[in-house]
Amino acid sequence: MLIDGHNRKVNYLRVSVTERCNFRCQYCMPDKPFSWVPKENLLSFEELFLFIKAAMDEGIDKVRITGGEPLLREDLDKFIAMIYNHNPEVDLALTTNGYLLPRVAQKLKDAGLKRLNISLDSLKPEVAQQIAQKDVLKDVLKGIEKALEVGLKVKINMVPLKGINDNEIVDILDFSKERNIEVRFIEYMENALAKDDLKGLLGKEILEKVKEKYTITKVGREGASPSFSYLTDEGYKFGLIDPHKHDFCEDCNRIRLTAEGNLIPCLYFDEALSIKEAVQAGDIPKAVEVLKTVLKDKPKENRWNDEDSEQSSRAFYETGG
Ligand code: SAM
Repeated sequence: MLIDGHNRKVNYLRVSVTERCNFRCQYCMPDKPFSWVPKENLLSFEELFLFIKAAMDEGIDKVRITGGEPLLREDLDKFIAMIYNHNPEVDLALTTNGYLLPRVAQKLKDAGLKRLNISLDSLKPEVAQQIAQKDVLKDVLKGIEKALEVGLKVKINMVPLKGINDNEIVDILDFSKERNIEVRFIEYMENALAKDDLKGLLGKEILEKVKEKYTITKVGREGASPSFSYLTDEGYKFGLIDPHKHDFCEDCNRIRLTAEGNLIPCLYFDEALSIKEAVQAGDIPKAVEVLKTVLKDKPKENRWNDEDSEQSSRAFYETGG
């Protein structure tokens, strides 16, 4: 079992397989062209898997593939199959913008993927385009339908932004309810790479919008998930992730690995240690030692809060959100 310096059990590894993305979401990426990490600096799937396997043997039982946009990395299904075949019981999930799903959903399912979170910030083509800085909605919707058709369990992620898509909170909830899938509203987390003047809604403001149509009851959290569940009067369950409160840092169970091999203990902070050299030298015990050092020093909580607009300098597209 993996335990961090604050006595929290860590069993969840998020793996960003690429920082590249086919969207330029205003809350995540700078819109100016910037230089990507060259492909040769990334760990190969075989190298990433060597580490994941060791981490699973140490107690990781939940793995989420993310990015950047993970579906941009070629042969992702083969990588998923490596993890699944090592332990079919592992809770294996993926976060994607959905754009490329119509082509690959079946392959991902066949490889052993169980669950998908798909980002959907608007149901209006022009607003989706404004946020992603690309005309994306039609393909994202096709991606959602394809994922459901092949039998993947889907959740929707929405980041409500003031004056942009905050009038669509109920629409996205209804869209998800009609398809019998759960939506999770995520508070915008201020970060240095996002567009300057963006303002997100706090959790309580998001709930106010839902209450314009529904009576809601707070249900609570499932395990160490950062998402608080609510039920509408019709019995539909949705989630709220509000990092500006620190309730969920108390039992944070996650650690993040980037495509370059950096292990990141907290989404907010810059601190990270590399497992790259160890893994590329085939020294897996050394990589596990690095993992344990990162866990020992894992911060107690993030610094987003309700009172001021503390910004993280970490790039979401690098850590995978
Ligand atoms: N490209 C994939 C996608 O769009 O879902 C995976 C990577 S993305 C970084 C993972 C999640 O992080 C998405 O649900 C996205 O909405 C969320 N995210 C990115 N930047 C964020 C921010 N500043 N605040 C809140 N959520 C953010």
